[in-house]
Amino acid sequence: MTRYHPGVGHYTDHGGPDPRFPQPQSPTPTACQINPSLFDFDFGDCNRREKELAKARRACSGCPLVAECLKWALVNEDLTEVGVWAATTPRQRKTLRKRMVDRLGPDWIDVLAHQDQVRRERAAAARHTPLTVDQARIVRLDREVNGPMPPHRSVTPAQQERNRTRLMAGLKAA
Ligand code: SF4
Repeated sequence: MTRYHPGVGHYTDHGGPDPRFPQPQSPTPTACQINPSLFDFDFGDCNRREKELAKARRACSGCPLVAECLKWALVNEDLTEVGVWAATTPRQRKTLRKRMVDRLGPDWIDVLAHQDQVRRERAAAARHTPLTVDQARIVRLDREVNGPMPPHRSVTPAQQERNRTRLMAGLKAA
């Protein structure tokens, strides 16, 4: 059985994942990357299944990627036909996909992709939103009364207090 590992980028015979959903990434290896066999077990063996499933679920529940991993596993059905993903079994993922169809319609993956796109665009726009007039005025005043920000020097609590006092005085006087 070949498992696609989001963090590693291993492709299966089915091809690659849906490019509209970025692969969940973690700065540290996830439990399924460290111990893939725990997540790849065969669901046919009932005795082994329960123990393995409990272990894999415990590992997923502490994983920082669990929410993104679940979405990724649901939309990439061909790549997640087997094994445990985000603490779910193949059967549970099948049920969840049916629920998504009921809630969002047969094109639910497109709907999710659109929502993600809108969210990314909003986040990008928020990063580039210019300061309001009031914010710009405060920044200007701060520069006037406290001077330019020291580039690589941390400001001591005493300096912060002094800067705050000067800024508040400047705002009152304005
Ligand atoms: S939630 Fe589970 S399957 Fe998904 S990346 Fe984390 S450890 Fe792996």
